[in-house]
Amino acid sequence: MTTTTDPTPSAGGHEAPVSGDVPMLIGGEFVPAAGGQWTDVVSPGSLTVIGRVPTGGSQDVDRAVAAARAALPGWRGLPFTERQRVLLAIADALFAAAEEMSLLTAADTGNALRTQARPESQTLATLFRYFGGIAGELKGVVLPAGEGQLQYSVREPVGVVGAILPWNSPLMIAGMKIPAALAAGNTLVVKPAEDAPLTILKLAEICARFLPAGVLNVVTGRGSVVGEALVTHAGVDKVSFTGSTEVGRGVGAKAGERVVPVSLELGGKSPTIVWPDAAQDAYIDATVDGILTGMRFTRQGQSCTAGSRLYLHEDVYDEVLDRVVAKLKTFVVGDPLDERSDMGALINQKQYDSVRDYIDEGQSRSGVVTALDGAAQVPSGLDGYYLGPTVFSRAENDWRLTREEIFGPVMVVIPWREDAEVLAMANDSHYGLAAFLWCHDLDRAITAANRIESGWVQVNQGGGQLVGQSYGGLKASGIGREFSLEGMLESFTSIKQINVKLASAPAPRPVTPGP
Ligand code: NAD
Repeated sequence: MTTTTDPTPSAGGHEAPVSGDVPMLIGGEFVPAAGGQWTDVVSPGSLTVIGRVPTGGSQDVDRAVAAARAALPGWRGLPFTERQRVLLAIADALFAAAEEMSLLTAADTGNALRTQARPESQTLATLFRYFGGIAGELKGVVLPAGEGQLQYSVREPVGVVGAILPWNSPLMIAGMKIPAALAAGNTLVVKPAEDAPLTILKLAEICARFLPAGVLNVVTGRGSVVGEALVTHAGVDKVSFTGSTEVGRGVGAKAGERVVPVSLELGGKSPTIVWPDAAQDAYIDATVDGILTGMRFTRQGQSCTAGSRLYLHEDVYDEVLDRVVAKLKTFVVGDPLDERSDMGALINQKQYDSVRDYIDEGQSRSGVVTALDGAAQVPSGLDGYYLGPTVFSRAENDWRLTREEIFGPVMVVIPWREDAEVLAMANDSHYGLAAFLWCHDLDRAITAANRIESGWVQVNQGGGQLVGQSYGGLKASGIGREFSLEGMLESFTSIKQINVKLASAPAPRPVTPGP
């Protein structure tokens, strides 16, 4: 790999790291695609080519799955302390490479260095450390079945995991899957998103310094080719997919046909609800900051957990909205590699056009007020997919912009009066990933948290997932949990029950026929 990441400051920024041809990792070797083709990687913040990655195909997937299968017995057969040692060494190397990874993330994804890319690199390293730490928690149980019987269960790795990643926060999503699967004794074939493969290849390079050959493999290429080949491959024992609900449905169906386990971390349209007491003087600043953090404006709204539906109580509607808009106007949209930028660029033309369509629809909708038009904040003279924060006020709950995942810096605001009414509106969604409640009346807040149909509810805070928490969606936001000890056990192990009749048994126990 020939990545150079010279962070020479230029006007508050850094030079874009320029990677040359970056090969993929198969069987411990850095290789081009079998077909010999390469795909340009374009930086969304500058529209310049920052590297090329192999255009993988089904032959490459075959090789990678074969390598992962070959490496499986050795890796799963290690004592957990060995896997732990390796994961902790990788974590140390990732912390040491964090700045390099951050610069590459900003260039690869368009996410701003200071607000997004640096925290993401730290989270990745922390996840390797966390899963290294819990690698010994794969314990079974012993059933007290009586003298003469030893009945116990063991947690086994599922085998070869096919992990498919999105582009919006590739390192963090890789960190949910790779160290968890490795800690549990699995081997992997990872497919990065077409639009943001460079950081995952850099991660592979760092991991390969410590892992035996074939334990981790990365194949770049198109979703419809490499992703599909992975999901349908007879040598893949488990599919762990993070991406859109639309693609996830197809992935789930194909895994179902083969009867292999699948985890799906999919889209969202998460509600943020503000009660009047959260707008009192003592809380209003934290509430407004938290609303904006929860909406993930600093990732251009390109987050599955974005709190993109803001429900403001009528009593405080105008005051909170005014402050939200005033604060958003201070956000600097600009080059992701510039330290001054709060927001960077959207990932690609398709995403830019799609978000622009939603904005155009919002601006032409009668009755809806454009409380903030982000166009004014888009910098001139920069090539890239830039959109400023946009807020539509007095929206309705059944409107397309309120129901669909826009995946851009666009928030809709809806008034409410009664708790039952706002909870009904919040739950009237086919998604159920996250929710943000701003309320200092404990009874009301916890009652609402209990009634919200989401996999993750936060009260009076809007930050990202904490390492070790249970994370995953309800409804069309997904199936399964990752990010935590229970996520590792659920997603990357299976239980085997072993019942032994001991020869020294004093008397035969009553035998009941099995089903
Ligand atoms: P996407 O569904 O377009 O692509 C995700 C991955 O699937 C990519 O690697 C892509 O190449 C691959 N893929 C595409 N077609 C495939 C196929 N037929 N078979 C197998 N793989 C295929 O999603 P995206 O645009 O990369 O990411 C944005 C979406 O991801 C949003 O909907 C977002 O909400 C979701 N997301 C969810 C979470 C979560 O934790 N729930 C986290 C991040 C992103």
